[in-house]
Amino acid sequence: HTGTLAPSQADTLRKVPDTVEDGGVRKEKSEEGKAPAEGNGDPLQGAAAGKENGELQVDAELLPFEIVRGDRLASFLFKFQFKNVEYSSGRNKTLLCFLVDSQKGYLEDELQRGYLEDEHLGAHAEEAFFQQVLPEYDPGRRYQVTWYVSSSPCAACAAKLAEILRARPTLRLTIFSARLFMWEEPEIQEGLKALAAAGCKLRVMKPVDFSYTWDTFVENEDQTFSPWEDCQENYEYYQEKLAGILQ
Ligand SMILES: [Zn+2]
Repeated sequence: HTGTLAPSQADTLRKVPDTVEDGGVRKEKSEEGKAPAEGNGDPLQGAAAGKENGELQVDAELLPFEIVRGDRLASFLFKFQFKNVEYSSGRNKTLLCFLVDSQKGYLEDELQRGYLEDEHLGAHAEEAFFQQVLPEYDPGRRYQVTWYVSSSPCAACAAKLAEILRARPTLRLTIFSARLFMWEEPEIQEGLKALAAAGCKLRVMKPVDFSYTWDTFVENEDQTFSPWEDCQENYEYYQEKLAGILQ
């Protein structure tokens, strides 16, 4: 497992990546959105670059499969990764767009927005969210967390999320998924049920949700989102499957 390291470990490892940086192979932020070419032998291909402010968790991640965190994702990435097709071949990562509204009393209201991108072979975006975006929990705060994900959580993530929700009773999580990940598998179905039982609202993205995600999380250059063919029908397909699982 390649999750975020504890701060103490990260501090130690921060000194390590000199060779990586000096070698000039770290990708710059501007390149993050480009689709990684496959099989070119570059172990860092597709890896996250550190943001300018050198966020700890990014520096500490030196493995080939990393979590990318950003403000708005490239439009082509959205159009490919969020497409709600039934057979999602080639989409071997999860894109997770998030909104966090955490409130303490009437005066303190904190908003966070952004996206995470994983590679399925490494840490998953769902878990990374609670390591990188919302690592702390204050029981005196109320958290409203909304995710728009390209595909629904795997069984392991569903179990971890259910556990997190049980441990954080003032946190409300709503997950809108473009596609259902391996929904035929019994363990996936059990995971989704456990997640719902832990209080997570699970939804399939409708055309209007794709449009909202496009407006809110994508470098859309002021273009209006136009749904692909079958967007509505595919939504109905997945919606029916999800309703069947959660009934
Ligand atoms: Zn997962």
